[in-house]
Amino acid sequence: MSIFENDAYRHHESVHFFSDEATGLQAIVAIHSTVLGPALGGCRVVNYANSSEALEDVLRLSRGMSFKNSLAGLELGGGKSVIIPPKSWGGDAAHQGEDRAALFRSFGRAVQSLGGRYIAAEDMNVSVEDAENMAQETDHVVGLDVSHGGMGDPSPLTAEGVFLGLRACVRRAFNADQLDGLTVTVQGLGKVGWDVCQQLHDAGAKLIVADIVPQTTAKAADLFGAQVVDTNAIVTMKADVFAPCARGAVINDETINALDVKVIAGSANNQLSRDALGKTLMDRGIIYAPDYVINAGGVINIAPEAKGQVNHEWVSQKIKAMEDIVGEIVDQAIKEHRPTNDVADEIATRRILDKRDAGKAWQPDFAKTTPLRQSA
Ligand code: NAD
Repeated sequence: MSIFENDAYRHHESVHFFSDEATGLQAIVAIHSTVLGPALGGCRVVNYANSSEALEDVLRLSRGMSFKNSLAGLELGGGKSVIIPPKSWGGDAAHQGEDRAALFRSFGRAVQSLGGRYIAAEDMNVSVEDAENMAQETDHVVGLDVSHGGMGDPSPLTAEGVFLGLRACVRRAFNADQLDGLTVTVQGLGKVGWDVCQQLHDAGAKLIVADIVPQTTAKAADLFGAQVVDTNAIVTMKADVFAPCARGAVINDETINALDVKVIAGSANNQLSRDALGKTLMDRGIIYAPDYVINAGGVINIAPEAKGQVNHEWVSQKIKAMEDIVGEIVDQAIKEHRPTNDVADEIATRRILDKRDAGKAWQPDFAKTTPLRQSA
């Protein structure tokens, strides 16, 4: 199928394919929009079944980043990148061999060639160390370690935003200010999910959890008194709130009618397998916190770095505002009897189009594309 006919292709500005025989690099960078600023979005390494799946993922995720950055009020456009692991990695996307650094340096050169239209960061299976390796070759990567002038790990900020957004939804669904006594199911106890559990536990919520790593769930049972269930069963467990914090498309045609919660509020990207399911959730009386709104804490954290700044105070204020932002979207959706994801898409799109139509769209400054950090 041609890219222009792909369902996930929605007027992306450009899509770039990179390969490097020497390092085995095969990567795709999708730049959805640079109207608000350079397209910022993470890079993930995933063992895709084929390159079409990789393309679809990067197209969907980059569009989501345009909306996320717009709604968060950032002067950043939306982009994303995926790396298909080389055959020599034996199907292990998290492979840690000596060849890993060379691959990420090679990817850094690819990013540099885009002249600052795309800014990379960490995503699935891409660590701060990988970002540091990219930074050997490009100026256009953020999420660097604090010791290298970065803003540090975004995950705790993502978790904080998820907790605040979840609380805003609970207030609307249960008319309650407290989480005390509510039951929350959490799928995925990774960097974000674990911190969300900690905050929910501290707030008095009862936890039901699932993760593919048994040691993690055992620890949650021990520390939080969490009930542990199967990774598939968690999606349709009876509870007050469901927090998907693992993977995308957990709300799909198979699961949607079996959901037994009043609120869905979690960190995973692309939680709905298709946008129209937002209406089904509304019709079922379930309040859904749009994923890219509630999980924006991480990108907010690295946004100052994209301007060469470190500003924890600004980040802290922006994260605190997320409770109101999620709440206002839910209120508007209820008032207008529309799905929350529809309302969020409209707000995000409007900001981009207003800027474009006012002729004030961001322009890359190609004079600045000479590497500041000279490669070795
Ligand atoms: P992570 O890799 O640290 O954690 C994911 C966790 O999910 C792991 O513990 C893993 O074992 C578990 N998991 C994987 N498949 C599972 C399954 N089928 N059922 C249950 N558990 C499963 O990732 P993270 O950084 O915590 O991110 C979690 C989600 O939030 C991802 O979808 C990510 O794209 C999204 N997100 C993360 C950030 C961030 O700042 N880290 C920001 C925005 C969005």
